[in-house]
Amino acid sequence: MLSFPVLFFNLLSIGMLVGVLVAVWRVRSKRAANELFVAVLFMLIWSLTSFAEMISYTFFFKVLWRNICQIGVFYTPVATLLFCLAYTGYWREKQTHIARILYSYQGVGILLVGTDFLHHWIRHSVSLVTSSQYSTLVVETTVLGKFLISGNFFLMVFSLSLVIIFVVTTSTSMRKQAYILLLGMVIPFLYAMAKVVSNEQFLQILPISGVFALSGLFLLYGIYRFDLLKLAPLAREQAFRFLGEGIVICDGEGHVVDMNPAAKELLKADMHLIEKQIYLEIPRWGKAVRRGERNSFEFVLGERSLSAELYPITSKATEAIGTITLIQDITLLKQRAEEMQHRAEIDGLTGLYNRQTFIEKVEKQLLLTSGPSHLIYVDIDHFKQINDQWGHRSGDAVLQSIGSILKQEVDEACIVCRFGGEEFAIFSSQKSRDEMIACAEHLRKHIEQQVCNHEQHSIRLTVSLGVSSAITISFDELYREADSCLYEAKKAGRNCVRYRSNPLD
Ligand code: GH3
Ligand code: MG
Ligand code: MG
Repeated sequence: MLSFPVLFFNLLSIGMLVGVLVAVWRVRSKRAANELFVAVLFMLIWSLTSFAEMISYTFFFKVLWRNICQIGVFYTPVATLLFCLAYTGYWREKQTHIARILYSYQGVGILLVGTDFLHHWIRHSVSLVTSSQYSTLVVETTVLGKFLISGNFFLMVFSLSLVIIFVVTTSTSMRKQAYILLLGMVIPFLYAMAKVVSNEQFLQILPISGVFALSGLFLLYGIYRFDLLKLAPLAREQAFRFLGEGIVICDGEGHVVDMNPAAKELLKADMHLIEKQIYLEIPRWGKAVRRGERNSFEFVLGERSLSAELYPITSKATEAIGTITLIQDITLLKQRAEEMQHRAEIDGLTGLYNRQTFIEKVEKQLLLTSGPSHLIYVDIDHFKQINDQWGHRSGDAVLQSIGSILKQEVDEACIVCRFGGEEFAIFSSQKSRDEMIACAEHLRKHIEQQVCNHEQHSIRLTVSLGVSSAITISFDELYREADSCLYEAKKAGRNCVRYRSNPLD
């Protein structure tokens, strides 16, 4: 005879399972909800039929309900696995295929159970054991039967492994959700194991419906408390995992609580190391995290240039409870910017500063110096003839060789440029006037002695130079005088240096 507590717990559990089913139905538009609905439906079939078997009196009905129960027994693990796949997103494109194969395979088991009285492939014997407390069916399964049942355990273990992998690889923020799911699945699994070990009698004390109701309740708690089936948390999680930008989340005390794979890659550190790195190697970041205010900065780590954007995380009461830092690799951007700047500043042919950059740099220097500044203005003699005689490319080669000579022979106290065409300029506010005149004379002689070889031509050339000196903040003033001295040098027959006798008096 069925005792009142057993009856009560069975009915209560079945009622709870129906409640879970309704609740899942209500959130059916959410991610993986359909799969969970099907899984709970099979659990309900399992629970109802095993209860029906329990309250049946005749051997025939007990066997009938036990056979129908196999639909739940064989299909609950499949539906659970499909729910886990839908939830974790693993093998998304293969899920329909997997469903077809597994439902067909498990269907064979159900069919064989239902027709066992014809062939006895699954069961050796089915007998009714009656004691003072209960009467139950005891089924002796064949090897094939055991094989098919072990398939159910395999599917459960596989589902559990999927969720465990998800728990391990997911971000900390998603973990609570995944733990609830894991708990909801472990309960029926452990129960099924216990049932196998204790051989049926256990079933009478703790009804299967109760076990499923318990795991269903955990899943429900997950749905309402941790957005278990909502798409947004998973989408956020996926964005967190796959975004190229690094994300580091710190709590109110400045401890790192989460970081995405991109951050691990960019910072070459894991959760344990990153905190040390933030505070010791990148103190700016450490300070910003402690302050918890909006901040952006750049830093260099090894070979990489990184940029960081730090935002405070505020609670609903708008108090700062932590920070989120977005990190980007800006190495390439920086390299490109440097290249662009180089291109904008440097004359492509000679590698010297161009006129624009030269004037800017000289004007900056003039503002900083109170003493005399000097300018040497250099012009190649009869350059047009070189072009005419040897061709434009030879002319370019000559310009390049003059560029190299200037780089080599003029020291760092001077700023050197290609001023335009075949004209060059050298500025210094650190050297004395005599040193600059000596430098101009040295260059003249040096160039006169050089031979520029280009395409089997040996080209000799000379330059004329004008030197100016002034205590001024105006580049134009220096330039005008140097230009007029150069003009005098040209007039005097070229290949010479000209300057005023006492311009500073
Ligand atoms: P002077 O001794 O009076 O300075 O005579 P010059 O022939 O050197 O001077 P002019 O100003 O008559 O000629 C300068 C020539 O420089 C004219 C121009 O075609 C040439 N030139 C300017 N820029 C370049 C360049 O980038 N490459 C080459 N190959 N020639 C250039
Ligand atoms: Mg010229
Ligand atoms: Mg010239």
